[in-house]
Amino acid sequence: MIITQSTISELKDRVLKGGEITFEEALGLLEIQDSELLDILRNAAHEITLAFNSNKAGLCSLINAKSYLCGEDCGFCAQSVRFETSVARYELLEPEIIIGAAKKAERQGAQNFCLVTSGGALSDDEFNRILVIVKQLKKETKLGIDGSLGFLTPERVVQLKEAGLRRFNSNLQSSREFYPEIVSTHSYDKRIETLEYLREEGLEMCSGGILGMGESREDRVKMAFELKRFSPECLPINVLNPRPGTPLEHAPKIENNEILKTIAVYRFILPKSNIKLAGGREISLGSEQNKALQGGANGLIVGGYLTTAANPVHEDLELLRRTGYEV
Ligand code: SF4
Repeated sequence: MIITQSTISELKDRVLKGGEITFEEALGLLEIQDSELLDILRNAAHEITLAFNSNKAGLCSLINAKSYLCGEDCGFCAQSVRFETSVARYELLEPEIIIGAAKKAERQGAQNFCLVTSGGALSDDEFNRILVIVKQLKKETKLGIDGSLGFLTPERVVQLKEAGLRRFNSNLQSSREFYPEIVSTHSYDKRIETLEYLREEGLEMCSGGILGMGESREDRVKMAFELKRFSPECLPINVLNPRPGTPLEHAPKIENNEILKTIAVYRFILPKSNIKLAGGREISLGSEQNKALQGGANGLIVGGYLTTAANPVHEDLELLRRTGYEV
């Protein structure tokens, strides 16, 4: 498919009027090579962002509430016991530590705070402790409390909702076809199942993926179309930050223009999702993060990731203001 300035404009108008782009059109957009056309694509994506979302940037902060100790084998992740990595190893943190971290994030400007635990699914004991922590955070802060707590059951979704959880994160990571290349201990359907439970029980959803694991453009588009079925409220985009000791330690770096194009195309596919730049954005996009925030993305994960540090929060807030967002 040949993409010209007028194709981009037609597709943008279609999305602005509530229409959709097809898989082939999305792939065509991702194949743009010309840098002028890429700028046009980014501008169009930004127009769509502002048409369907306010200019208030979503800011989320997270805590790694249980680190390493995971029996799964996701090739990008430094928390699997199958890989010898240097990340901290600890069981579920005590409530005081989690609540202290949430209050600090709130003081720094975060609106939402996500409790993340490593592993496929929490034990009953761990899950019950999380429920108590969520209730306490609801009482003691004004933060939206989110969770990324592995695989769920419909019963657990209901319990989390009743405890006051606002949103649940479970990333698809990549396409169904590429997934077995990076994970062998659970299936893509296991991930989809959790998204289905969230939708059935009406809990808000955060689901995205990781760019730069060796996947093709087609895989990137496929993941976005899988996500489109669920219209996640939030779509975090991570860029692989190869971790020493993991199977993807030596993965080649994905080019910035590929990242920028993908984010812009995701905006065409999912006009209403809050597309957040997440882990790896500093080391990959670096000083070009502004281009992503003016080209499809409209939020940031701030204050550090699961196993890597992030920019100081005040720098991220400044970046958002510079790119026209209210924070
Ligand atoms: S991504 Fe989650 S499930 Fe996969 S290895 Fe890391 S902690 Fe375990």
